Amino acid sequence: MRLTQKTRTGLVLALSLVLVLSFAVFAEEQVVEDRYDQIFDAAQDQGRLTARFLKLTTRSDEKSGDSTILTSPDGKVMVIDAGNPSTYVDVDRALKALGITRIDYLVASHPHVDHIGSFAQLIRNYEVGAVYTSEVVYPTSHYKNYMAAIEQTNTPHIILKDGDSFMFGEHVLVEVLHPLPGVEYYDGYPNSSTQFINNLSVVMKLTFNESTFLFAGDLYTDGERSVVERHGERLRADILKVPHHGDSTSSSKRFREAVQAKVGVMMHDAIADLNVYKKYRREETMVYISSIDGSVLVSTTGDGEYIVMTQYDRTTTFLD
Ligand SMILES: [Zn+2]
Repeated sequence: MRLTQKTRTGLVLALSLVLVLSFAVFAEEQVVEDRYDQIFDAAQDQGRLTARFLKLTTRSDEKSGDSTILTSPDGKVMVIDAGNPSTYVDVDRALKALGITRIDYLVASHPHVDHIGSFAQLIRNYEVGAVYTSEVVYPTSHYKNYMAAIEQTNTPHIILKDGDSFMFGEHVLVEVLHPLPGVEYYDGYPNSSTQFINNLSVVMKLTFNESTFLFAGDLYTDGERSVVERHGERLRADILKVPHHGDSTSSSKRFREAVQAKVGVMMHDAIADLNVYKKYRREETMVYISSIDGSVLVSTTGDGEYIVMTQYDRTTTFLD
């Protein structure tokens, strides 16, 4: 078929119109409900242990990192990790939405910037009961900043190690399963220390009657092996903060089998590794990813049953 200039122009116009219209339909389908206000409504927390895994948005060239806000059945507040410094606005917004002015337990899983970046700001702007860290010392500016904030505000600093336990409010037991006491620094530390530091992440298990949560920091497979060898079945937990943002450096078979999580949460700017996600899914672990599902609320009365609420419904199918 030969087209005249006029019909060609007509065709191009028609095609453009189709494209514009289909984009409009596509855009309309992409409008998803945002349940931020429901997730950060503290009215639902009474008598429940609730974990809110935050969707952080980085505003720097560092990855956003992890932050989880926990509230105990009797209203105590624990924050485990707090993103890179540019995500402070996200953590602060969530705390304010919940009406929180005091953080009873501020826990650093390990001193990398995507976990402790907002600590100095939190310590200066909130009343903090105590800061809990491993004994690992990490001479970077972010680490020094928050250590200075601890000192200047006279905030108690408590070192956690394997075998420690404490109560989070009256009803929730916290057991520290890692790291072992007595960090041995190698010559040249902290050069090339990413893996070394990640493997010394604080691992904590929270137990509220029949309900269990495991927080595994950025543990790599070496650290996982160590913690599985020492604790075995004690790692069993319904809800898992998946180690190292769901990356393939972590979540070994032995670790997954020891935990047997019903729900895993990965906090990441994208998806660290689709294979890791699929491995959990094949083992019947429901996995949420902050980049897709937004902030995630997991809440329980201690009976081993959980309410899970995500900020967004999934509009993608590639994770099915
Ligand atoms: Zn990290």
